[in-house]
Amino acid sequence: MGENTDMSFNIPDNLLDEIQQNIENLIRDFNVPEENKKEVIKQINYIYTRTKYLSITDDLTGLSNRRYFDNCFEKEFLRAQRYKNKLTLVIFDIDHFKDVNDTHGHQCGDYILKQVAKAALQTFRKTDTVFRFGGEEFAVILTETNINQAIIPLERFRKTIETLATEYQNNIIDITVSIGACEYVDSIKNKDELLRKADEALYEAKNSGRNKTIFYKE
Ligand code: GH3
Ligand code: MG
Ligand code: MG
Repeated sequence: MGENTDMSFNIPDNLLDEIQQNIENLIRDFNVPEENKKEVIKQINYIYTRTKYLSITDDLTGLSNRRYFDNCFEKEFLRAQRYKNKLTLVIFDIDHFKDVNDTHGHQCGDYILKQVAKAALQTFRKTDTVFRFGGEEFAVILTETNINQAIIPLERFRKTIETLATEYQNNIIDITVSIGACEYVDSIKNKDELLRKADEALYEAKNSGRNKTIFYKE
């Protein structure tokens, strides 16, 4: 029970066991009187929803996780391809984050990650999902947005982070982010190509001095 063979599955084993046990108990007792059925369904629903939530959420920041990114990005890419919707993929990464950990400690690093996540959620539209991509790297899927429309929110976000001045244990910690973005155009054949191009733009932002927003250019 609760066997967890998929290593990317981020629900702890003991929680999986608990959910499994709960469902089994509910099913075993399914011969429930009519008046209790609503409650049984409500409980299964709760368990399912909570499990689902946990499976797509990053524990530390509360942002959507990489698994959910893969799911959403595929859908949005196909939508853009099929219906010619505008779509811009953004990847950003905290600059010299290792130094923050080395200087102020890992807990401070965690706190900064949470603050960055919060700032990202406040900056982008509700329809633009922000994901923790892994480590100190994040992704944003900007739907209905081309490059020209992405410039303003991305620069606003970059400046927000630059001026955030996070306070942690009486120290003010300044950080910056480098941002890479690529818009969907017809010549991009699949989602991996769009991801790779956004990543290349991020790489260029890093290589050309960091604290920059770079859009992919052929
Ligand atoms: P760059 O500007 O090139 O991105 O440099 P960097 O130091 O940010 O990049 P590097 O890849 O060298 O280091 C990333 C650091 O992020 C190292 C790793 O310990 C830290 N990190 C990744 N995930 C977490 C986390 O969940 N919490 C904390 N505190 N640190 C994390
Ligand atoms: Mg970094
Ligand atoms: Mg990184």
